[in-house]
Amino acid sequence: MKPTSFDYTAPNTVGEAVSLLADEEREAKVVAGGQSLIPMLSMRLARPELLVDITRIPELGRLHVDESGNLRIGAAVRQAHAAADNAVRDGWPLLAAAIGHIGHPQIRNRGTVCGSLAHHDPAAELPTAALALDARFVITGPRGTRTVLAEDFFVATFSTAVDADELLTEVVFPPPPAHHGWAFEELTRRHGDFATVGVAVVLERDTAAGTVRTARVVFCGAGPVPVRLPAAEDALVGSDAGEQARAAAARAVLAGLTPSDDVHATAEYRREGAAHLLVHACTTAWERC
Ligand SMILES: Cc1cc2nc3c(=O)[nH]c(=O)nc-3n(C[C@H](O)[C@H](O)[C@H](O)COP(=O)(O)OP(=O)(O)OC[C@H]3O[C@@H](n4cnc5c(N)ncnc54)[C@H](O)[C@@H]3O)c2cc1C
Repeated sequence: MKPTSFDYTAPNTVGEAVSLLADEEREAKVVAGGQSLIPMLSMRLARPELLVDITRIPELGRLHVDESGNLRIGAAVRQAHAAADNAVRDGWPLLAAAIGHIGHPQIRNRGTVCGSLAHHDPAAELPTAALALDARFVITGPRGTRTVLAEDFFVATFSTAVDADELLTEVVFPPPPAHHGWAFEELTRRHGDFATVGVAVVLERDTAAGTVRTARVVFCGAGPVPVRLPAAEDALVGSDAGEQARAAAARAVLAGLTPSDDVHATAEYRREGAAHLLVHACTTAWERC
């Protein structure tokens, strides 16, 4: 199929983009990398009258670490750019690793970090990485600018806190804890596919006690939004992340994770896979602490 006809414009400022999105006369949609939107247009799952290309807005092309040590990634920053950036690789390696699981180089060369977050496919890697890393989302619209926490940003499948007349302008990652280790692992049918199920783990080490001080465990492909599992985190906190603690965390997954069946896998397969992934990811994360 071919898309229905639409107009295209590439504004130079966020203000211009927002006023185009807020125009009630015609339905406008943001296009960033186009790696999800263009297929949706071709399948006529989306029929906007106007595409607002945000990749020519200079301030959105910025990736930097601010004076408080936060990593700030603008809405036009491509996934490949972020994954190759030294500040990202050194300070937020989980994010770089998660990007590495997205599709293929051609997709990552065009797709943006914020586009994946705004699109919010529940099997996508970046929403899960963002929740594991406690990201903040800066949203600008006709009513001003607001910042939303990761736990409030992902509302439902393909739905986020960004309204139709708003723009996700930036995602902000706070500095991770000093003594932390991480892992991002997923099950896929073929390399480059969306995750059948995946997990992001961040463990903070109490260096004096030699135990886990804090843990974040977040799954993708396990529900309509990225799923954080406090019971699995509780099983790890205070432990030495050894075999017993990892087994307890895996039991928490089997008891508490409620994925769905679909054409790719049964719920049971996903749950079992998630438990195995978590055991392995905890081992890796602890070694990296
Ligand atoms: C063959 C193929 C394989 C893929 N494999 C994977 C994979 O394994 N894992 C994975 O996670 N993804 C995968 N993707 C999707 C890819 O990561 C997309 O790049 C991403 O989902 C969307 O980013 P984008 O910049 O291309 O956004 P676009 O396609 O331009 O936009 C996607 C949606 O988000 C909205 N949007 C985009 N940016 C903003 C913004 N700043 N503010 C508000 N709304 C915005 C658009 O209006 C649109 O509705 C794959 C895509 C393809 C084509």
